[in-house]
Amino acid sequence: MSAILLSGKEASSALLEGLKPEVAKLDPKLVVVQVGEDPASSSYIKQKFKACETVGMRSEHKHLPEDTSFEDLMSIIDNLNNDDDVTGFIVQLPLPKHLTDKEPEVNRAIDPKKDVDGFGAYNLGKMFLSKDYEDLPPATPSGIIALLEYYKIPVEGKHIVIVGRSNIVGKPIAVMLINRSATVTVCNSRTKDLAKITKQADILICAVGKAHFITKDMVKDGVVVIDVGVNRTDDGLKGDVDFKSIEPIASAITPVPGGVGPMTVTSLIRNCVRAKERQINN
Ligand code: NAP
Repeated sequence: MSAILLSGKEASSALLEGLKPEVAKLDPKLVVVQVGEDPASSSYIKQKFKACETVGMRSEHKHLPEDTSFEDLMSIIDNLNNDDDVTGFIVQLPLPKHLTDKEPEVNRAIDPKKDVDGFGAYNLGKMFLSKDYEDLPPATPSGIIALLEYYKIPVEGKHIVIVGRSNIVGKPIAVMLINRSATVTVCNSRTKDLAKITKQADILICAVGKAHFITKDMVKDGVVVIDVGVNRTDDGLKGDVDFKSIEPIASAITPVPGGVGPMTVTSLIRNCVRAKERQINN
């Protein structure tokens, strides 16, 4: 057996194409705030602007120096909250070391109507109500759902195992899948006998941040594998999943790169469109 390749590149390009008319009609604008020079952040931001260009969406890069103070950052956020021309904005994480502890405060300061990363408590909290309230869901979980939908992989009644419980991936994707009637198990670094659990997965989602963490002996035949991990190694970008050994026994699997990454960017663009629609309707 050889797995279907769940190409985020292909799915995202179809989804972006579909967003073009709405972008042309609504004319939203995305601002990305970057503090410092983290190379991974710069590369992600480049991909975000490329997607804006693809759909014809206005965008702006507010690139602040590494030593920007917390007060200055908060004042910029305040200005963006109050600028009617800005539909949505994100503060690219991670922030430099002197601001890392302030990340929750920074997230809290973003107006929920403009929180297109969906990391704020208001938008995360609404997701708990039901699928109908996933108005601005976090981009990576929302991208995973869109990828599964694009490839017509049902989740209802499936046992989905998520490895990783971060606030931006593991926890929100668990909620979104529960909203879609999946049976969800969420694992973390203290989970006992991880392989015993991952082997039960119909769909396995891995967001750990360790190259080739999931090995062949940890999955069952026919599993669908969603690899969220992005690990920079001497050998290039690697996922959390040992693709080479698992691909022959999986029924479907995402590549890294070209899997979840492009879907995350596309979800951000989609959130900007949704934010603009909601702002107009309000
Ligand atoms: P994170 O905040 O570091 O969380 C990692 C999670 O993995 C934690 O919940 C941790 O458990 C768990 N973990 C670590 N070791 C484990 C083990 N031995 N067994 C089971 N669980 C273990 O990471 P994140 O922000 O969610 O990101 C995860 C990966 O996804 C990274 O490689 C990141 O670069 C990538 N990512 C990719 C995208 C994309 O668009 N492609 C978006 C976001 C993130 P504890 O909570 O117990 O510590």
